[in-house]
Amino acid sequence: MKKIVVKFGGSNLKTREDIQKIVSTVKLYNRPLVIVVSAFYGITNYLTDGIRTVRRDDAYITEMIGYLKNMKRETIEDNIDDPDQKEEAYRLIRERLDQVERNLLGVHYIGDIPNFIEDRILSYGERLSSLLLALILKSKGIDAQEMLPEDMGLVTDGEFSNGTINFSKSTAPVAKALAEDKIYVVPGFYGISEEGKVTLLGRGGSDYSAAGIARCVDAESLDIWKDVDGYMTADPKMVPSAERVDSLSYTEAAELSYFGAKILHPRTVEPLEQLQIPVRIFNIDGPKDKLTPLSSIGPDSINTGDTAPKSVTYSDDFSILKVNGPGVGIKPGILAKLTETLDRYQVNIKSVVTSQTSINFYLESADLERAVKSIQNVKEQAIIKAQGISDMSIVSLVGTGIVHEPEAAHRMLKALAQEDIHTQIVSLGASDVAAYVVVKQEDKEKAVKAVHKEFFES
Ligand code: ASP
Ligand code: MG
Repeated sequence: MKKIVVKFGGSNLKTREDIQKIVSTVKLYNRPLVIVVSAFYGITNYLTDGIRTVRRDDAYITEMIGYLKNMKRETIEDNIDDPDQKEEAYRLIRERLDQVERNLLGVHYIGDIPNFIEDRILSYGERLSSLLLALILKSKGIDAQEMLPEDMGLVTDGEFSNGTINFSKSTAPVAKALAEDKIYVVPGFYGISEEGKVTLLGRGGSDYSAAGIARCVDAESLDIWKDVDGYMTADPKMVPSAERVDSLSYTEAAELSYFGAKILHPRTVEPLEQLQIPVRIFNIDGPKDKLTPLSSIGPDSINTGDTAPKSVTYSDDFSILKVNGPGVGIKPGILAKLTETLDRYQVNIKSVVTSQTSINFYLESADLERAVKSIQNVKEQAIIKAQGISDMSIVSLVGTGIVHEPEAAHRMLKALAQEDIHTQIVSLGASDVAAYVVVKQEDKEKAVKAVHKEFFES
């Protein structure tokens, strides 16, 4: 029987009652599974900030360990009844927290945070979840076992903080390690380099871990549990009339994530396409008696013929680096020089739009300041000014039909114009399934509503 890989994220690990919901969901499946878990909600940020404080202040180590211990104590007390199992859980959690403590002491004594230590410490958010969940499932009579990425051989390319899974190295050992008919609980968010060092898979990377493992075991499906109703035609907090999107193609899901929908990490579908493993999205707070997914994601081909746009999404996490000068657009080599410089400063370019007098790079907002500075170092007469613009939002319409039906883009722009929304940049055709505009942040909500009304509220 093929495995199902089931992922529970930070949004399923927020409140004291959440573990019970996870346990009853696992029981619902009533079959062997590979479960991938994230850290408890907020813990990765807590560790990230904590490491920086600890570097200066060793007293903070005690505070951090105390905080984590207390949180885990609550979880043990709430969920494990048998005194012997409880004692064993305390002992194992203590052991794991000792490892965190030793790493934090290391940071304090060397007064520095080398990237391999930072990755290792941050991975403990997930390791605490996986250990606890495995122990709790066992205490409920379920045949569960924790399995760590280093023990099963989930190998990455070794890039710290943002690794990529190496499937030619990982597939066979991971499939072998997860072969038995039981419930494995794996911490998401990291793998190990060929030298055996922890490498994180990028923020929000547990989805990608789960997808990678699903590929290694050639899973029947990757089931992602959320605390919201899957993909919607728009963010329901902004557009109350938004409706659920039942099915999407891999490309549509990837673009929606890229452009701001927070359902999946944009890299999730990457490992799944080749083996055509479907993704099924569930709401842990929704009806789940028959395990009917709210949204399903599958091969692009199953969606051909379905050309209606799927969703309008937005993101504020885009900024523009505008490089001006007469002729920057036409002069050969300038774009190459600029992208090379940005790459050297580790600025990830999301998109580029050029004209004769201006080159616009879209970047993540966190990179903007560094990007502007880096360009100021470029010696190039044609460049007069490099300027960062950060109060922008990107609003995107996603769906396979967008490239096939030119009418869609026209309707999108008309809907925006009717609301007097000034669109700064329009892009169509960069992706096969997305059209997007850049608007002032203050116009974003109006823009999303206008586009939604045009396409989804007939
Ligand atoms: N805990 C990690 C993060 O917050 C990974 C994840 O949640 O997917 O980025
Ligand atoms: Mg997450």
